[in-house]
Amino acid sequence: MIQIKLINIDFEYDIQSLTKAFFTKEDITFDDQKEAERVLTVSYDKNQIGISFSENGIPILSKSDTVLDDERRNKKNVLKRLLYNVLSEVTKLTLQWGTLTGIRPTKLAMEKLEQGETLDKIESFMYDEYLCSKEKTKLCMDIVTREHRILEEIDYKNGYSIYIGIPFCPSTCLYCSFASYSLERFSHLVDDYIDALFKEIEYAKNACPNKRLTTVYLGGGTPTTLNEEQLERLLIKIRKEFDFTHVKEFTVEAGRPDSITRDKLRILKEQGVSRISINPQTMKQETLDLIGRKHTVDQIRETFAIAREEGHDNINMDIIIGLPGESREDVEDTLREIDKLSPDSLTVHTLAIKRAANLNIYKDQYSGLEAKDVSGMLDVCLEYTKEADYKPYYLYRQKNMAENLENIGYAREGKEGIYNILIMEEKQTILALGAGAASKFVFPDGYRIERAENVKSVTDYIARVDEMIERKEKVLSANAKQLR
Ligand code: SF4
Repeated sequence: MIQIKLINIDFEYDIQSLTKAFFTKEDITFDDQKEAERVLTVSYDKNQIGISFSENGIPILSKSDTVLDDERRNKKNVLKRLLYNVLSEVTKLTLQWGTLTGIRPTKLAMEKLEQGETLDKIESFMYDEYLCSKEKTKLCMDIVTREHRILEEIDYKNGYSIYIGIPFCPSTCLYCSFASYSLERFSHLVDDYIDALFKEIEYAKNACPNKRLTTVYLGGGTPTTLNEEQLERLLIKIRKEFDFTHVKEFTVEAGRPDSITRDKLRILKEQGVSRISINPQTMKQETLDLIGRKHTVDQIRETFAIAREEGHDNINMDIIIGLPGESREDVEDTLREIDKLSPDSLTVHTLAIKRAANLNIYKDQYSGLEAKDVSGMLDVCLEYTKEADYKPYYLYRQKNMAENLENIGYAREGKEGIYNILIMEEKQTILALGAGAASKFVFPDGYRIERAENVKSVTDYIARVDEMIERKEKVLSANAKQLR
């Protein structure tokens, strides 16, 4: 355990996350009553930040630095650089994203680009201010430039997007930490859930009357766990209530092949869905069985072929690297198999083990199966995508990701998921409907963001849908001029 002592300084969250990035397996506490093997002390006095690290009572390393400009962001950056240097020296590790612990590294670069800074200057800023590696800085710049170009082509400032969550899945994956209800046990709730969603849809259609709808995203869970009749009923309702005149993209995350049928794919096409996802996560059967996906590799291939036959010309596939027991060779095999299908976009996730996931709860059962060299696997994906003409177009990070890495969305030219960029760069308001959905209200200055979260439980959502509507209405009516 590592105990952190703060003297005359705050930034608890930043200090904790950066320390955790170096000591991924250790518990971290601010409680000075707890016995800890390692102690990290951070102090601030007369513009001097001091950091010392000790182990079993023996001082290991101390460093200090001067804060020339007391402005909060600057002070935080000096502190994080110093902390990074101390922890890097103690552990002999470097982090590819340097001191950046937040989930959106591209947001900083985007901010600079929009202020008119040159790419060279932004690159130097990423190295000097945040100690990012050359490779990650290059990746970040590549993505930001592409995002910027795509955003310039759409009138996102005068628009808003809709997210609708379907929190049901055929079974629960080992690593899942989303609001997900297995259909086996909860199928009796689905119709009531759709009825509650209809109420939110009826509210949302008039919530931003002066804005144009830019994208619609049906995610989950697994939206295609709805049966054909339920899926059609929902899509018809969405098409009927919202004005699709200016909609650039209508995505349905079909997700798991075991939930997809030819009829469902046909319904999606008939209702104007322009982008779908069929997610293998891996093409290794043994891993699919281990992670509880309950479908075969052949099912992935078949579903993909049917989707093409039904006319879906923008199909994304998600894979996860760092899955238990997988090696670099397994990732290479997965990519070889995916290459035969040639999806229009490929999203590469790095496994993040959240506290609520079964993979964490039953971690003893899976010890020894931890994937090694996840960063090498990520390089394999980077190489493959280059050869196969996919370009990285969005990036985000999560807490507890293997080797503190990232998720990257790659796409062929013109097949980028616009919704993904809008949400990751926090560029416009997203009204989120359904259990566990979180609405984000982005103010015109692009900096102020308010949130309104829906309850996670499906039964609570059904019972309290009016309250979910009120939560959104409260933010919108209090800021009508800027948000509506
Ligand atoms: S398909 Fe996605 S949401 Fe459903 S259980 Fe698996 S990880 Fe969770």
